[in-house]
Amino acid sequence: MCGIVGYVGKKDCTNVLIDALSKLEYRGYDSAGIAILDNDSIKVKKTKGELKILEEKLRSDSTFHGHCGIGHTRWATHGEPSDINSHPHGNARLSIVHNGIIENYKELKSFLEKKGYVFESQTDTETVAKLLDFYYSGDPMEAITRVVKEIEGSYALGIIFKDFPDTVFAVRKDSPMIVGVGDDEYFIASDVPAFLKYTNRYILIEENEIVRINSSGVSVTDIHGIDVNKQVSVADWDMESAEKGGFEHFMLKEINEQPTAIKTTITPRISNGMPDLSECGITPERLAAYNNIFIVACGTAMHAGMLGKYIIEKLARVSVTVDVASEFRYRDPIISDNDLVILVSQSGETADTKEALRIAKEMGADTLGIVNVKGSFIAREADMVLYTHAGPEIAVASTKAYMVQIAMFYLFAFELAYAKGTISKEECVRLTSVLEQVPEKVGALLETQSSCQYIAHQLMNADSLLYIGRGLDYALSMEGSLKLKEVSYIHSESYAAGELKHGTISLVTDEMPVIAVATQRKLYEKTLNNVLEVKTRGAKVIFITHENINVSEEAADYVIGIPSIDDILMPMLAIVPLQLIAYYTSVAKGINPDKPRNLAKSVTVE
Ligand code: GLU
Repeated sequence: MCGIVGYVGKKDCTNVLIDALSKLEYRGYDSAGIAILDNDSIKVKKTKGELKILEEKLRSDSTFHGHCGIGHTRWATHGEPSDINSHPHGNARLSIVHNGIIENYKELKSFLEKKGYVFESQTDTETVAKLLDFYYSGDPMEAITRVVKEIEGSYALGIIFKDFPDTVFAVRKDSPMIVGVGDDEYFIASDVPAFLKYTNRYILIEENEIVRINSSGVSVTDIHGIDVNKQVSVADWDMESAEKGGFEHFMLKEINEQPTAIKTTITPRISNGMPDLSECGITPERLAAYNNIFIVACGTAMHAGMLGKYIIEKLARVSVTVDVASEFRYRDPIISDNDLVILVSQSGETADTKEALRIAKEMGADTLGIVNVKGSFIAREADMVLYTHAGPEIAVASTKAYMVQIAMFYLFAFELAYAKGTISKEECVRLTSVLEQVPEKVGALLETQSSCQYIAHQLMNADSLLYIGRGLDYALSMEGSLKLKEVSYIHSESYAAGELKHGTISLVTDEMPVIAVATQRKLYEKTLNNVLEVKTRGAKVIFITHENINVSEEAADYVIGIPSIDDILMPMLAIVPLQLIAYYTSVAKGINPDKPRNLAKSVTVE
């Protein structure tokens, strides 16, 4: 949530900041703003709405140029999206951008009001700007140090001072921020894609380290003012991966990138035909010792976990509990030191999942992070980490990150099942080789977009719809339903097909679309019965199953046939039409699927 950037260098910082913010819009688009230092004064331009509105405003102002500045794209937590609540906040002496929530902002605000400060916005961020002003008497480091000692909550702050016209200061706690190191130019940003066009070298910043970037380079000190030596890392993401590359939307591009993402994620983890996760310390011996597994995540990652549960329990006969991270952290879970807690998060910075990790560690469990962003909090703090190699995911609705998360669960389940002795080595090798065929099959499925486009047009006027399935298909339906909700604003629910008649079937009326997923052949007849139940009540059924199964007209209005592989791996294929249906429904309704309303990616606040 919220993207922050900062730049110091020879280029025109207005252009660089806008360009960098455009790569962070997935983090929020309630408002955008920049502050630059120009001729010893701070100039601010900010506005409600997407970045393009700010760009238009800047186009009509030819005076807005400099070489040092900060920028922000907002996902509002405190105060409605408005011009006045937009970042940067500050005054003629200093300006700040903030990602996070200041939890004690009310106390700080009343303290500052007593000192004569008058607040103009409803944001928590303005208290930080005013507190900085209160403590600032010529020494930025001293003022920042005092401020971070008083503010509570989460923050990544980018700060400029009028008296230091070529320096951007920054500090973070519980919100992400990194420093980009270019040739005679330096950046701060919430995420790598912001500066990938200019450099792929970056420095990770620890909690409450204070950063200064200026023409002489980067310096980092700890809260006591002692210099900290930092290592420069190199991002293996290329610039193209953060651009649309000819696709109309990032979401469609990312759906199409799935074959490559799966291949890049699984190939290095297969050795002699067997899954090999030893890179992070997972060995068959270690796996064999676990009693229970917990999977904790939010949103789409939680749905990947649901599928993970079905796969692991089916193959390895180990009990798996899936928790929504925001529930896990407050429900006093019962975990022992023989248990494994798997935290799944694309960004590795999801606030609730981070807290769940802390709790799991406190309870003595082993922790494993499945994350996409290198060096992110969960990657660093979990006992073990498996990186998914999806590359940057820009569209707010996750597609390729989900795909590689489930790919990782397959590898994990195969290795665990072998370690527990529930499948033979031959079966493990066979399943792994079927998994290796998935990228090609996903690629072939992507060729059949026109049927999904057609179905999207049949769905676009629906007020509500249902997704049903059994077993793995039910877990998959959850993700299909969420995808549609996120990007098309059509209400939808996923339901275990057998549970429907225990209440929810009362919602089924004439013409109500029902998307039935039936890829598990053992359960096919059962699901078919449930489909007939809704069909008899007038539902319009879209039926997703193996292409070699002949579905009668009586059961379905539209059939999407999926090439057959082992049933257990079918979700990796069946998810593709579900993603495409969501995407095309969004487009048919004239919505921008990359930026659905009210949402932001990478939810770094609780
Ligand atoms: N709390 C700040 C605001 O509402 C920043 C929000 C965020 O980082 O999500 O403006």
